[in-house]
Amino acid sequence: MQIIAIYPGTFDPITNGHLDIVARASKLYHKVIVAVAVNRGKTPLFSLDERVALVKSVIPEFTNVEVIGFDNLLVECAKQQGANVILRGLRAVSDFEYEFQLAGMNRRLAPQLETMFLTPAEQYEFISSTMIREIAQLKGDVSCFVPDAVNQRLIEKFN
Ligand code: ADP
Repeated sequence: MQIIAIYPGTFDPITNGHLDIVARASKLYHKVIVAVAVNRGKTPLFSLDERVALVKSVIPEFTNVEVIGFDNLLVECAKQQGANVILRGLRAVSDFEYEFQLAGMNRRLAPQLETMFLTPAEQYEFISSTMIREIAQLKGDVSCFVPDAVNQRLIEKFN
């Protein structure tokens, strides 16, 4: 049986923490689909196309990783892609409550999908896209938290 994991998120922008999760997942699953959400609940800094392009530009070394954008319900997108696992990253206890609720909702919507969690290496545990955006907006240096291509786009965006 092929295990295909879908890793959904806003990725606004993708960080070294997200990449650490992708690297771990690529060794565990036959295929990993990084699914970039439009996310109507938030107003992302980068457009969906920009976020997808940035993710694509930083994952080329993983041959079993694909990148898509999606605009529908996650469980529907997972079904369309033939995924059997929803993958999420867990940083701290603070992530747990939201992730637990999300996993429960997704299980009710699609019982055949299993949500699985991976934790990043400890140097990535405190990285969040929100903080990256805030620091970059104030012209702080985020180069050690994000891939080079993302750092360049942030500098362009805020100049
Ligand atoms: P969302 O808006 O769906 O939370 P994010 O792009 O913020 O989208 O995060 C996508 C997933 O990656 C979530 O499961 C989140 O907990 C996880 N994640 C975010 N940052 C990190 C990090 N530094 N290390 C590990 N996982 C992370």
